[in-house]
Amino acid sequence: NGTTVTADMVDDVARKHFPPCMRNLYDRLKRDHHLKHFARLQLGLFLKGIGLPLDEAVVFWRRMYGATMSDDKFNKEYKYNIRHGYGQEGKRMNYAPKSCQAILTINQPGTQDSHGCPFRHFSPDNLVIFLLSTYPQLDRSSPEMRDILDSVKTSHYHVACTRVFEVTHGLKKGQGLGPDGETVTHPNKFVDRSREMER
Ligand code: SF4
Repeated sequence: NGTTVTADMVDDVARKHFPPCMRNLYDRLKRDHHLKHFARLQLGLFLKGIGLPLDEAVVFWRRMYGATMSDDKFNKEYKYNIRHGYGQEGKRMNYAPKSCQAILTINQPGTQDSHGCPFRHFSPDNLVIFLLSTYPQLDRSSPEMRDILDSVKTSHYHVACTRVFEVTHGLKKGQGLGPDGETVTHPNKFVDRSREMER
């Protein structure tokens, strides 16, 4: 949406505005100072989409890997991939941030992976734990939580995600991402709409 996000701003934007899939990746990266390839790709392209420029992306990832990685390793193995994601290496492709459809269906995560969509790829127990620990607005026995889990059971993952958006933005059921009751189809729509609402 045209605004620049710096490495310093990511944490604040993540806490206030990231959709569940990206919040999960970001929180894990922060905790473990590590993400596997597909998780890095999913989060990295999303961050590009919110307006994190290449030089700030390099600062961000260097900081997140922290002392677990030497500068030498970072520069040799990771910097290239970050630059690649921004179309500055290799075939110089302009890679687009992944849509929900792509995240839900391509490169299915295994049990050791953190990429994907929590609504689709987490076990029901882990999903509840994740939601309760991430969103103070949600309660285990609340009707909102029931709505979310019902949508997951019927494989309407984007409906579950939209319900999270509504609950965390003080919106009523059915209001969706905006005036037309639009549902979540892209993580970058979720974050852009959330940031717009804050202004
Ligand atoms: Fe992310 Fe889309 Fe899943 Fe929401 S529905 S958590 S935006 S992949």
